[in-house]
Parts: sequence; C-alpha cells; structure tokens
Amino acid sequence: MKNWQECLDFPQYFANIIDEAEEIVREKQQEIALIASSNQVKLLQAFRQTKVGDEDFQTTTGYGYNDIGREKIEKIFAQVFGGEAALVRPQLVSGTHAIACCLYGLLRPGNKFLSVTGKPYDTLQMVLGEEKNSSDTGSLRDFNIDFLAIDTIDDIKSRDKISLFTKLKNAATAPSIKLIYIQRSRGYALRPALTIADLEFLIRNVRKVFPLATVFVDNCYGEFVADREPLQVGADLIAGSLIKNPGGGLAPAGGYIVGNKGLVVKAAGRLTVPGAGMEMGPSLGTNHRLLQGFFLAPHFVGEALKGAVFAAALFEKLGFEVQPKFHQERGDLVQTIRFGKAEVLQEFCKQIQSYSPVNSHVVPVPAHMPGYERDIIMAAGTFVQGSSLELSADAPLAPPYTVFLQSGLVYAHSKAAISAAALGLVPK
Ligand SMILES: *Cc1c(COP(=O)(O)O)cnc(C)c1O
Repeated sequence: MKNWQECLDFPQYFANIIDEAEEIVREKQQEIALIASSNQVKLLQAFRQTKVGDEDFQTTTGYGYNDIGREKIEKIFAQVFGGEAALVRPQLVSGTHAIACCLYGLLRPGNKFLSVTGKPYDTLQMVLGEEKNSSDTGSLRDFNIDFLAIDTIDDIKSRDKISLFTKLKNAATAPSIKLIYIQRSRGYALRPALTIADLEFLIRNVRKVFPLATVFVDNCYGEFVADREPLQVGADLIAGSLIKNPGGGLAPAGGYIVGNKGLVVKAAGRLTVPGAGMEMGPSLGTNHRLLQGFFLAPHFVGEALKGAVFAAALFEKLGFEVQPKFHQERGDLVQTIRFGKAEVLQEFCKQIQSYSPVNSHVVPVPAHMPGYERDIIMAAGTFVQGSSLELSADAPLAPPYTVFLQSGLVYAHSKAAISAAALGLVPK
C-alpha cells in the first residue's frame, strides 16, 4: 500500500520534513484531543438532558410558531455556552448579522459603545457607519449610536493591570457607554486572539470600571477551542456564525446569540420584530443539521486545530513567520502565515483551493467582497458556501501578504492540502 505522501508524489526529502513537523506537534495535538473530549461530553449531557428525539428533526414553515426542535436547539446552545437563553436561527445570515442584531437590539440613540480590542472586524464597518459611503444606510451612526475603539490587547497579554485600568478609565470619561465590545478572534488584523484566560482577566477589570455596561463578545472562531466559553468567564452576551465552529460543518447557514435572557430577547426583536422576538422563525428543515452539527462541533474544531498546529510547525520550519506558533495557547482556530509577497500568497491560496473536495479546478483570484474595503482572495473548496470550519484560506491583498488559514473538518485532508501547498512554495 502506498502511504499518503507517495499518493501525492512528494519527494522523499519533503516527506521527511512533513514527518518531522508532525512529530513536533504530537503532544500539542494530544492536548487538543483532550479539550475536544471534554467538550464532547458537555454536548452529550445537554442532548440527554434536553431529551432530543427523532421528532425534533421535524420542521415548521410560515410563522414558525411552536417549533419544538428549534426550541431544543436553543436550550442546548444556552446550556453548553453557559447562558440563560439562546437565539439560533438560519435567518441570521452571517456572523456579522448576529452581531449587528445585538448592537441594534441593545443600544439606543445617544448611547455609545466601547470596543476594547481595537477596530471591530471589517464587515462591521458598514454597520457602524465608519465607511465613506455609509451615510443614510441605516448604520448605527445614522441612529446617533457612536463607538470608541481602544486597543488593550498588549495589556491583556502581558497582564498589565495598571495600563489596562488606565486606558479603561480614560475611555470612561465619555458619557453614555452602555456596552463593552470584545472581539475574541483576530479578524484580518495581525493581532493575537484572546484565550479564555485573557477574556477572564479582561472582563474582571472591565467590570470594575464599567459596572453597569453590558459585556458583549464577538465569539467567531472561538467556540470549543477551550473547555470554557466567554459567558463562563463573565460576559453577558456572545454571538457567532454557524458556518464556523458551532455548525460542525453540517449547518447549511445561520448564526447564534447566547446570554442573559433579557438581552437575547432584545436582539431577537431586531432579527424579527419587537413583540414577535424569539417566538417566530420557521426552521425550514434545518433542525436536523443544526443539531447534528452542534453535536459534532467539538470533534471538528479539534480536527481543525490539529491542522492549524501542523501548519504552524511546518511553515515555521520552512522559514516563514507564523502566528500563533505551534506550541502557543490558542484563542481561535485561525492560523496566520506571512508570505511577504503577493505572488506567494496567491500561489498558496491557489494550492489550497486545488486540494479541496469541491471546486478543485477553480482558481481563486483577489476580488471585491461585500462588506470588505480591500480586495480579498479566498480559497474555499467547501460544501457550504463560505464555510470556514472547512479548510479555507483567505487574505486581504495588501502587505505583509499574510494568509488567514482555517484548517478543515478532517485533519488528514488539511495535512495533505497544507503540505502540498508548502511543496509548491519551496525551491525544488
Ligand atoms: C467571521 C467573523 C465575523 C463574522 O463574519 P461573517 O462572514 O459575517 O460571518 C465577525 N468577527 C470576526 C472576528 C470573524 O472572524
């Protein structure tokens, strides 16, 4: 029998490099498996206690009243993520939409919110009204809801309480700050993700300065990376996308919002309308895939993380700058690799795309994407459009030409594709 490297025609010297990279990350991958199994048991217990049955795979149409499967999904999300209530819907078209529902639902004209992790993710800029063309689009700014951004990431990482406290205190001189906004993952910024311990430290200090504010976390890419979630270290409300971690690769679409019940109801009033809130919203046949996907999510997040640490070790070995390094504790499942040159970045994305199960014959090219200011190149040969728990690589086409790699559902696939992409970049 040929081994996988022979199947891909890797030269022997390169096969050896890959074996070495895998050897280096073995211990880290075992740690990842332990977190996955602890999260898996949490899921199992929630499914058992909620008494999920075949009947929950049924669907509703129209208004979607009394959708028992949908109600159980929301109960399970709330329990597993540590909140009182959850809104988990295919009608939330993206993570950005889920986050926007929270902001529109909670903030009122004249209110401000404070982002403590710098400028929020690119696709939120239009929501905030920060873009040039965003006047009279219905952005938050149109409703006289303003925001301030400070960057406290270095203070959090170095546990510099005094510096963090000073920055928060200075920001607190602005009146009407009703919400503190925390972005856990890096987005398209060259900053590290926040680990659960980082969030715990940050939120404890935020509470001292802003005792009455709502603490909101953009939890995209963070779910199941650790054995606790942001609500379990003090956040009030979290939101994310079902075509990332918590959809387990099976959710065909959707987003989630979990937290304090009153806050979730307010956000739901923006997804539907005040009055209908969480009561309406047909599941349209998605209950089965949302339930199974959530149940499988800890395992698939583990697979993705195994691929991420492998990529970190391999590309570091080949002389590229990677973030995080393979041994570092992770707060999300994104791996960055800095290529320094547009051609190399594009070649890497091209290779990842060509080693995908879907659209392997398609060549990704940089293009404008809705919600993004810069041209983006996206390699995503995925079963669900844009799904990034599946193997995907994307990047703004700008210096330092760093790729944001989300390793896939199956470690063996990620390993093969990442290795093949690496071979395409090394001198022969
Ligand atoms: C993916 C992501 C979002 C939401 O993006 P969508 O494409 O709208 O789902 C928000 N914040 C961060 C940090 C993200 O990575």
